[in-house]
Amino acid sequence: MGEANDLRDQLSCACPCRFVKDAGWDEELVNQSYPWVEERIVYWPKIAPWQAALRDGLLEAGVSPYNGYTYDHLFGTKVGGTIFDEAGYRHTAADLLAAANPDNLRVLLHASVNKVIFKTRHGHQKQSAIGVQFKDENGGHHQAFLSQKRGSEIIVSAGAIGSPQLLLISGIGPRSELKKHNISIVFHNEHVGKGMSDNPLSSVFIPTKDPPKQSLIETVGITDDGVFIEASSGFGQTGDSIHCHHGIMSAEIGQLSTIPPKDRSLEAVHKYVRNKNSLPKEVFHGGFILSKIDGPLSTGNLVLVDTDPNSNPIVTFNYFKHPQDLRRCVYGIKTIEKIISTNTFSNFTPKDGGYSMEKLLNMSVAANINLIPKHTDDSTSLEQFCRDTVVTIWHYHGGCHVGKVVDQQYKVIGASGLRVIDGSTLSRSPGTNPQATVMMMGRYMGVKILRERLGRAAGV
Ligand SMILES: Cc1cc2nc3c(=O)[nH]c(=O)nc-3n(C[C@H](O)[C@H](O)[C@H](O)COP(=O)(O)OP(=O)(O)OC[C@H]3O[C@@H](n4cnc5c(N)ncnc54)[C@H](O)[C@@H]3O)c2cc1C
Repeated sequence: MGEANDLRDQLSCACPCRFVKDAGWDEELVNQSYPWVEERIVYWPKIAPWQAALRDGLLEAGVSPYNGYTYDHLFGTKVGGTIFDEAGYRHTAADLLAAANPDNLRVLLHASVNKVIFKTRHGHQKQSAIGVQFKDENGGHHQAFLSQKRGSEIIVSAGAIGSPQLLLISGIGPRSELKKHNISIVFHNEHVGKGMSDNPLSSVFIPTKDPPKQSLIETVGITDDGVFIEASSGFGQTGDSIHCHHGIMSAEIGQLSTIPPKDRSLEAVHKYVRNKNSLPKEVFHGGFILSKIDGPLSTGNLVLVDTDPNSNPIVTFNYFKHPQDLRRCVYGIKTIEKIISTNTFSNFTPKDGGYSMEKLLNMSVAANINLIPKHTDDSTSLEQFCRDTVVTIWHYHGGCHVGKVVDQQYKVIGASGLRVIDGSTLSRSPGTNPQATVMMMGRYMGVKILRERLGRAAGV
């Protein structure tokens, strides 16, 4: 078996059944839970010209077969689902509440949990989660306790950053880390906050003859190497497309994860603002093609800054620490190079021939603002290009892995009455739209918990 096939075999994300199997999920219930979400909030996009060009360019460059419109992560080229409906209205997880019984539900907006409250129950070794301390939208402090009904539980779904942070603040985590912040230890677990991963994203900017219509990711190319090729385009209010780009947007929300913690300073933010003001905007009237590494092998960690849940913890992803991630990024950029040189794309780009691949790469580096110290000279290698341009696609995950922080039922190890169900439990972020799987997981675990309760009530 060749290297690509070996890798293909390892790439569970590109094979839905393998991903489900690796997660230890019940396949039948997974197959019921995805459509439950899809029927409510997922639509097929009316494919935009830039996305159609990527589709044709991918096929011309050999990222085949064409798998048409599908939610599955199949090798080749496809068009995926979207949460924008035909009228352009964006649907969210909140829409799923429409399926709930409102009598059983109380939703507090803008409330944040400060910590989980535990109690040692007589005769039990484990501490039990019995409630939470939280702050309401007006800053008022409250406590909420579980009802005495058997089986009542606290389910934490604060995401890959919030859930490990909340467990740590509540006393579940590495002893040394808890001690550092004078947090009373509920349960020592060295894995909380470990195994944080993010999918590195690099992109190439492509100036076009005419302004392309705005588009977000619709077409996806899944290469043999498990690199996802996607694209976005559009002319924002400022008359250029740069503000529609992932790297730029993530910089706008503080792209600090790509620099080491000690360098994350106010000066770094000021530098970002200076860089942003000096972007060569006139050059970037066009679109972007992105390369995202599926299943990165590089991992990092999350540690607390203090015990305030509103303080951002320090998160380090160690992008490209594992050489295979870097190698796959290079493969992705080479694939983009092939796509740009297809007939499809040559129809989009200016005829004056002013944009060699080298020039495109150097322009892309110049426009990228990931706060990593830049080389002043041009990119010397694709490896350097990957390192210089890496940004997040916001698919970060981990910190509360199954088998390490939670068990197979998502119950927090070392405590009772507490589960974590969200992206922090994932060891891999599945494919193009991780939120689809996270929402599916919510439905899946909801059904499982109901079945467990019914089983208990029936004395099974
Ligand atoms: C800018 C951006 C764009 C994205 N685009 C896409 C996309 O196009 N497609 C896609 O599939 N995925 C996308 N993602 C990724 C997707 O949003 C995540 O994978 C998914 O939302 C993870 O779900 P989660 O439940 O684990 O965490 P989240 O959705 O982050 O939910 C966690 C929630 O908990 C809240 N919280 C945290 N701490 C506390 C606390 N102490 N008390 C109370 N509440 C708390 C947070 O405010 C948040 O609302 C994007 C992410 C970002 C940031």
